[in-house]
Amino acid sequence: MGDIVMHARGDRARTTMMRDASFRADGVGRPRGRDARAANVMAARAVADAVRSTLGPKGLDKMLVDGAGEVSVTNDGATILRGMDVSDPAARMVVEAAATLERELGDGTTTAVVLAGELLRHAETLADDLHATALAEGFRDAAAVATRALEGLAREAPGGREEALRRVAATAMASKAAAPEATRLADLAVRAVLAVADGRRADLSHVRLAKLAGRALAATDLVEGVVLDKARASEAMPRFVAEARVALVEGALTAAKPARAATLRLADPRAHEAFVAEEETRVARAVSSLASSGATAIFVEKRVDDRAIDLLARSGILLVAGVGGETLSALARATGARPVANPREVGEADLGRASLVEEAREGGAPEVLVTGGGGARSVTLRVRGASEESVEEVARTLEDALGVARTALADDPIVPGAGAAEAEAARAVRDEAGRLDARRALVYEAFAAALEEIPRALAENAGRDPLEAVTAVRAAHAAGRRDHGVEVATGGTFDAWSAGVVEPLRVKVQSVATAAEVATLILRIDDVIATARREDLTGRSP
Ligand code: ADP
Ligand code: MG
Repeated sequence: MGDIVMHARGDRARTTMMRDASFRADGVGRPRGRDARAANVMAARAVADAVRSTLGPKGLDKMLVDGAGEVSVTNDGATILRGMDVSDPAARMVVEAAATLERELGDGTTTAVVLAGELLRHAETLADDLHATALAEGFRDAAAVATRALEGLAREAPGGREEALRRVAATAMASKAAAPEATRLADLAVRAVLAVADGRRADLSHVRLAKLAGRALAATDLVEGVVLDKARASEAMPRFVAEARVALVEGALTAAKPARAATLRLADPRAHEAFVAEEETRVARAVSSLASSGATAIFVEKRVDDRAIDLLARSGILLVAGVGGETLSALARATGARPVANPREVGEADLGRASLVEEAREGGAPEVLVTGGGGARSVTLRVRGASEESVEEVARTLEDALGVARTALADDPIVPGAGAAEAEAARAVRDEAGRLDARRALVYEAFAAALEEIPRALAENAGRDPLEAVTAVRAAHAAGRRDHGVEVATGGTFDAWSAGVVEPLRVKVQSVATAAEVATLILRIDDVIATARREDLTGRSP
C-alpha cells in the first residue's frame, strides 16, 4: 500500500509524504474502498506520529530545516504541522483541522492530532467488521458522551477569574521550552491579555511581541504601548517627543527614479534634470505638508530619502522610517492616527496622539517606544533569549499562553490537565459502552482507548512506563478521583486540579471534537479520484 516517506532533514529538509500507489486519472492503480481508506489512514497517522513525541511538559523538540537551510528548534505541535510540507490529501485534512484549532483557541493542537491518529488506528482494525458509516456514527456519538463528561468535570478556578487565567497560561507555558520561567512568563501573558481586554473579550492584535536575541530569558518583560526595534532616522532629530502628535505614512517617502521606459524618453539630459527636480519638489512638498499638519512624530512604512530626513530633522520632528505595514497598523490602533497614502493630504484629523515617543537603548540595540497612545490600549511583550532560536520558541510559547488566557477569559470553566480530562472522558465513554450492543460497544471502547492515548503519551514522553501510567490513571478515575492525571516526574498519578495544571474546557472539548470530525471525514472516504484542476471543473478559480 502507500508508502510514507518522511525526511525531516533531507536535502530540502522537507517532510514529504508520498504514496507509491500513485494512480492515473484513467483509473489505473486507483485506490478504492479498503485500499483508499488504508492509504488515507496511514497518511493521517504519519502526521500524528510526527508530533506525538512533543506532547506535554516533557515532550521532545523537533528541528525544522527549511528549504533555505534556516533552522528552528521547536516543541510546538502547531509550528511543526505548519512547517511540514504535506502533499497527501488526507494528511492535509489533519493539518488543516489542527490549524483551525490553533487559530481559534491557540492551544490543544497536538492533542487533537494525536487523538485523530489513534481514532484512525483503531478504526483500521474495526473496519473489517464494521461499515465505515457505522464507525463514523459511533465516533460521533462517543464524542458527544466525552463532551458531556468534560463539561461535568469543568468548574471555575477557586481564586477567581484572574487566577484561572494565570493557571491555564502557566500550564500552556509549562508544556513548552520556557519551563524555568514558566510562571513569570505566564503572568506576563495574563497581564497582557487583561491590559487589552474589553469585558470578557481580548483582541490579541493589540498585544505585540518584540523579539530580541542576546539577552537572558529573564529579561523578557511587558511594556505599555508599541515598541519598534528601530532607531530614529537621524541623530539630529529629538530623542524624545512628549505629547506627540503622530502621523503615519503608507509607502515610501522618496523621490521616484525614472522608470526604465521613462529613462528612454528622458534620454535628453534636460528632460531628465527636470524630472529629478520635480520629484525632489514633490518630496519637499510632502515633507512641508507633514510638518505643517502639526505632526511631531512621524512613522513611515517604507524608505525615506536623506533629503526628506534632513528637512524633517530641521523642523524638529522625530521620524522613524521603514517600520513595515504591520507596525503601522499597530501604531494606528494605539495612537488613533489614520495612515495616509499621500502625505500631501495629511490633515489634523489624520493625526494620533501619544504621551511619549522616545528612543531608548535596550542592551545596545536602539528601540523606539510609543506610550500613552490616544487610541486603543496596546501592549508589547519584549521577548528576550540567548539565541534567535530560543527567542522564537519563547515567542511561540507566549502566543500559546496568550491564546489560552484569552479563551479562559471568554469562557470561565476549566478542567484538570495532565491527561485527567481525557481519562475522565474515557471512563464515561467506556461506562456508556456497557449499555450498548456489542458492535457499538466496540466503537465506544476504541474511542475510550484513543482518549487514553493522551495520558499514555504524556508518560511516555517523560520517560515513564506508559502502560503503568495509564493503568494507574484509569484506576484513579474508576475510584472517583476525577482530577487525577499523570505525574510526569514519577509516572504515577496526582491531583492535577489542586496542583494548578488546568486547561480551558473549550480547548479540551474542541480537541476531541476536531479529532472525531477529521477521523470521521477520512473514514468515510472510499475512493480517491484524480480530477482535473478545480477551476477546470467549475469554470472558475476556487
Ligand atoms: P497541545 O498542542 O495539545 O496543547 P502540549 O505539548 O502543549 O500540546 O501539551 C499539552 C498537554 O500537556 C496537556 O494535556 C496538558 O494538560 C499537559 N500538561 C501540561 N503541564 C503538565 C504537567 N505539569 N504535568 C502533566 N501534564 C501537563
Ligand atoms: Mg499546549
